[in-house]
Parts: sequence; C-alpha cells; structure tokens
Amino acid sequence: MSFDAAALRARFPIFAGRETRLAYLDSGASAQTPDAVLDAVRTFETSRRANVKRGVHALAEAATEAYATARGRVAAYLSAPSEETIFTAGCTAAINLVAHAFGATLGPGDEIVVSDLEHHSNLVPWQMLAARTGATLRFLDVDGEGRIVPAKFAARTKLVALAHVSNVTGAILDVPAIVAEAKAVGARVLLDGAQRAPHGPLDAPGLGVDFYAISGHKTFAPHGVGALWMKAELIEALPPFLGGGEMIARVTREGFVPARGPAKFEAGTPPIGAAIGLGAACAWLAGLDWPAIAAHEMRLTQRLLDGLAAVPGARVLGPKGLQARAPVVSFDLEGAHPHDVCQIMDRFGVALRGGHHCAQPLHARFDLAGSTRASLALYCEDADIDLFFDGLAEAKRVLT
Ligand code: PLP
Repeated sequence: MSFDAAALRARFPIFAGRETRLAYLDSGASAQTPDAVLDAVRTFETSRRANVKRGVHALAEAATEAYATARGRVAAYLSAPSEETIFTAGCTAAINLVAHAFGATLGPGDEIVVSDLEHHSNLVPWQMLAARTGATLRFLDVDGEGRIVPAKFAARTKLVALAHVSNVTGAILDVPAIVAEAKAVGARVLLDGAQRAPHGPLDAPGLGVDFYAISGHKTFAPHGVGALWMKAELIEALPPFLGGGEMIARVTREGFVPARGPAKFEAGTPPIGAAIGLGAACAWLAGLDWPAIAAHEMRLTQRLLDGLAAVPGARVLGPKGLQARAPVVSFDLEGAHPHDVCQIMDRFGVALRGGHHCAQPLHARFDLAGSTRASLALYCEDADIDLFFDGLAEAKRVLT
C-alpha cells in the first residue's frame, strides 16, 4: 500500500472536471462520497433492489444478502461482531435509540454525565430523557483547549455519554481515563463517534465502552444511515425503542415478542441502499493506508494551526498542537461574523462551516455565539490549505 493524495482524491467524482478547485473543508458536516460507494449503491438500486428479510423471491434474497454483507463490513470497521451492530438513520438516531432503550432503565436520582462540548445530538436526547424520567444531567468541564476534563463519577451515575472527537475543537477524548472512572462506579459509557469514524477503522469494543455511534454521511457514505455498536448483553436486556415490522419474533393481539439481535432495534424497512453504501465505505476505508493518511491529515492540520497563529485577531478554539487531536480546526476571527467569513471564503472555492456547529453550550463556554470551522478529510491537499489562507486574508481585509 502506498499513499498518493491525488490518486485518493481522484476517487471522489465531485472533485472532477471543475473549472476552479473546490477546497472542501466541511467534511465534518458531510464528507464526500467515493466511486466505490456510489458504485455499490447503484449496483444495489439497479440490480438488487427489493425489501430485505421478508421476501422469498430471488431479488429479495439478493437484497437481504447485500444488507447482511453491509452489516458485516460496518461491524468489521468497528472491530465488532455483526450481531452487535445495528443500522440506524444516523448518529443522532443511534443516540436517541440508546436514550430510549437504556433510558427505560433510569429513574429519579440516577445521573447521566455529558460534557459542555457535546454536539446537540449527544445532549438534547439526554435532556429529554431527564425530563421523562427525573434523572439528572451532570456536565464535565471543558478546558481552555477544548478538551473534556475527566472527573470521578458517583454511584448514581448510570451512563456517561461523550464525544470521542469534538466536532468543534477536534480534541480526542481521553477514553481510558473516562472508562476507568465509569467502570469504578459501574456506569455504562456511550461514545459519539461521528467525528472519529471518518479517520480510520477503530476498535469500539476494545475501548471498553458499551455503546458506539457513528454517522454514515460523515463516513463517506450516503445520508440517512448510521450505525450503533451495542454489547450483546445490552441488546438482549434492553427494551426495543421503535415498534413495527422486522423488530418482532411474534405478534398476537395481546402483545409481541421482540426479535433477537440487531433486528430488535431496526423497526420498519431500513435505509437499505444507504446501509449498503455505508458498508461499501467501510470496506473501502479499511483497505487504505491509515498511518499515511493520518500523517497527511495531521500535516495539513499543522499548516492550519500555524497559519492561524500568525493571523492577528484569529483564535483557535481547540488544542494548539497535534497531540490527541483530529483534523477539525475552529477559530474566531475577532470582529468578523463566521457567516461573513464563510461567504467571502466561498468566493475562493473554500467550503467552510460558520455558526455554532450544533454546540451552543461550548460556544457559550468560550463566550462566543459561533465560530468558523475547517474540517479535513483524506481527500484534502495542500492546495486546499493555500486557498484557505488566500480566502482568509481577503475576509480579514474586508471584515476587520
Ligand atoms: N455527533 C457529532 C459529534 C456530530 O458532529 C454530528 C453531526 O454534525 C452528529 C453527532 C450528528 O450526526 P448525524 O448527522 O449522523 O445525525
């Protein structure tokens, strides 16, 4: 395996045949999709499209097999068994699933721990759960570099739900420290892996956590799909969240017996084509040279950090160095609104995200209404960073 940034980028049709370069630095919102994924979805939709599980005709069997293969590929990417890997409608849906299924075991006096840097997807479901059950929320602090500060938990702590990688600061969670404290009091741990999964295969069970949620569209796959890894004992013990077709073993007038395994949490027709796309993305990603890609992503991140450090009035919201950091760089440009910064930089072909990035408590912690975010993926190159700084110089000239 050898690493060739241009060859990798060429696998993404969205970048082909443009008159001017698209410096796509918004992969934290949605990553672009490679030909391997598009081909897999097209093959399914044009030659295998049918509903899964219930049909006995050949097409339905082919669809069911493709869906099962996709599950296996996603599971392998997470180093998890297929029987513990649930397809969802996205990372938000995965977290809501846990908030309902695991949440059904909580009551007044129980505590759920989150942090100030969570994406609203890993905050609002717990606020809703607290309102439903009388459980309370506790917030872990975030330090000046945008890192969650581990703390001791209480006997009443039942779940710790944290971002593996912050979608704003790029900080990577100190998972061993959190898991050690959680296990000391018997609390379960959920990691929101939406911003971790696009940066290489991982070992979710090996992290010592209980639930791991990922997003399809951030992991180079179609929108409308995601996955949740959940320990088998929890799949067995927890009640289903949504009811309907596919999640039952048997239904009578009086009630139902839930299906076993992932099906228990996959009510209704799943997003079959998108799930097959996610499977294809995971299989494709698993075959890449990740040490080389990580070095490449980190070198570009260092360029962003160095360049921003040299811009008067620019303040990076995350770690200033590369240690325990993902390629997500958010910054405030003093005196300039993030939307204006993004608009001016868009004229240079630079796609950024401006606003609160669904992390309002974190921005409040930094005394800001929003920030401007550059989030990288494996197809980014030096030319994108060059355009970023050209655009930023213009934004600074016009706005400040
Ligand atoms: N968690 C984090 C950290 C995110 O960045 C996002 C999306 O921005 C989500 C969750 C939501 O993911 P999805 O769009 O798959 O629901």
